[in-house]
Amino acid sequence: MSGSHDGHDGHDAHDAHGGTAAAVDLPPGVVIAPGDPSQTWVEKLYLPEIVKGLGNTMRRLFQKSFTIDYDGTDRENPEKYHQPRNGYRGEHYLKKDDNGHVKCVACFMCAAACPAECIHIEATPTPPEWADRERYPKRFEIDLLRCIYCGMCEEACPVDAIALSTTYNIVSDSREAKVYRRDKLLELGEQLGLSQSHHHYRPDNVPGHVPEKKTGH
Ligand code: SF4
Ligand code: SF4
Repeated sequence: MSGSHDGHDGHDAHDAHGGTAAAVDLPPGVVIAPGDPSQTWVEKLYLPEIVKGLGNTMRRLFQKSFTIDYDGTDRENPEKYHQPRNGYRGEHYLKKDDNGHVKCVACFMCAAACPAECIHIEATPTPPEWADRERYPKRFEIDLLRCIYCGMCEEACPVDAIALSTTYNIVSDSREAKVYRRDKLLELGEQLGLSQSHHHYRPDNVPGHVPEKKTGH
C-alpha cells in the first residue's frame, strides 16, 4: 500500500509480520525496519525483559564491588588506593641531599628541557656553609596545569634532584593550588619517603611493580 499525507509523498510502515501499518510521513529514503519475526508476543511486550534487567541489578547490589572505594588518602590500602604501575608519571617532587638541603643546584637544565615551559626557577648563591655547590633555587615553581607529565625534567637533571612520583590524585579546587613551589615539592618527597631516593626515571619499569621506598644513598 502506498499513500500520501498532507500533500507530501508518504511511505508505508511495515509491522513485524510484513504487513503494513498506518502510513507515516518519513523523509525520502528513510524506511522503518521490520521487527524481528522470531520474537514471541511475550518478548514484544518488553516487560519481562525489564523485570529480568532489574533482577540482574538487584543481584549485583549485594555482590562485592570491582571498583576501588577511592579516597586517595590511604596509600597502603589497595581497597582505597590504586597503585599505578611503576613508570607512571604523576606529581613531581624535589629531593634533599645528605645534609637535608634541597638537592637542586639551580642549573636550569630542567626548565630548558621542559617542552611546556612550566618550570620557573630563580637562583641565589648558597650560604657559605654549603660548600658543595654555588647556587640553589630561591624560587622553584612548576605549573602543573601546563605540565604534560613527559618526564623530560627528570631526565635532564644532572644531580637527580627532581622526579615524578606515581601520585595520580592530582585534582584541586583552584588553579593557584596547581602551581607547586619549592617547599611543597620537597614536602611531597618527604611524604612519599622518596626525598633522598636515588632512582632515576625508575629503570625497573615493570607492570605491577611497587616502588621501593629508599632512604639515603
Ligand atoms: S614533566 Fe615535562 S612538561 Fe612537566 S615539568 Fe617536567 S619537563 Fe615540563
Ligand atoms: S631540578 Fe635539576 S635540572 Fe632542574 S634546576 Fe635543579 S638541578 Fe638543575
